Amino acid sequence: MGKTVIITGAARGIGRACAELFAAHGYQVLLNYHHSMTAAEELRRQLQSRGYSVELYQADIRCRSQVDLMVEYCLATFGSIDLLINNAGIAQSRLFIDLTPEEWAAMIDTNLTGVFHCTQSVLRQILPRKQGKIINIASIWGQVGASCEVHYSAAKAGIIGFTKALAKEVGPSNIQVNCIAPGVIDTPMLDPFTAEEKAALKAQTPLERFGTPAEIAACALFLASEAANFITGQVIGVNGGFVV
Ligand code: NAP
Repeated sequence: MGKTVIITGAARGIGRACAELFAAHGYQVLLNYHHSMTAAEELRRQLQSRGYSVELYQADIRCRSQVDLMVEYCLATFGSIDLLINNAGIAQSRLFIDLTPEEWAAMIDTNLTGVFHCTQSVLRQILPRKQGKIINIASIWGQVGASCEVHYSAAKAGIIGFTKALAKEVGPSNIQVNCIAPGVIDTPMLDPFTAEEKAALKAQTPLERFGTPAEIAACALFLASEAANFITGQVIGVNGGFVV
């Protein structure tokens, strides 16, 4: 039986690319989605038609009870959990001075507290087995800060601190916790940007292009592999040289 991965926000973008790659490499994949039901069902259909072991679960990662039910469903369906990819997230561009408390809370609830809920719920299952991995999707903006994205940058910087601290705490239980800090990746998250803004972001990237979701998935597959068993608490930049 293959290993099992839960991927949050797996219906599109980076999460979808992870689902496709991990399924193709023999993982049993639980696709989490929130609103993108049609895309998630279509992805499951495509992957199952290739003979891959894939199931769906709708859960809002901001809600602990929904996350706990998702983890229970994963165990009941696949029998184990070996890996969690905390990928789901939101972005928003706002001048800090205009940011409302509600917008701040929505960002932190999804991008940081959601990671807390999913990680704690999964860890309660995998800690006793002393084997498993957590991969968090942070961002270059959590490393260097983005103007007009203070709340996003703060949440992603929080994920980096969370990753380092948790890696130390659960290292003795043989659980590896790492994060990937993507640069600018070509996904629906970029839709709000104008063509000029996108060109400026490309110009700031030494490789002069956006990354692809598949390039983030490839890094996640490596971190999930046994070849990465001695890597924990790290922030892996997949950013075209944006942060060096
Ligand atoms: P995306 O296409 O907008 O996908 C985001 C995903 O997050 C969606 O599938 C969405 O699910 C899910 N999501 C949002 N809120 C959720 C909630 N409350 N519960 C469950 N799922 C939720 O963006 P992406 O670019 O692939 O982003 C994936 C991750 O990479 C995010 O954490 C993002 O911050 C990070 N990242 C992206 C870039 C980039 O340039 N694209 C760069 C650095 C980091 P539904 O559609 O089902 O609602």
